[in-house]
Amino acid sequence: MIRGKCPICGKPFEITDLGALPSFPFCTDRCKLVDLGRWIDGAYAIPDKSPAGGSTEPENPDVTEDEEE
Ligand SMILES: [Zn+2]
Repeated sequence: MIRGKCPICGKPFEITDLGALPSFPFCTDRCKLVDLGRWIDGAYAIPDKSPAGGSTEPENPDVTEDEEE
């Protein structure tokens, strides 16, 4: 039995083996993606583009990036 706590939402989980929790050490794929998103955001500062893809956002060739942080 493996007990852990999700580093994202803090939710405790209890599994029999790692194979039972593909998103380990996160409780769900959602938390896993949240962590991944944070990491990517900090590492590469990718523009407004979802890594999941498949979205139907229009691509404007003359779009300007005016994000200020
Ligand atoms: Zn979680």
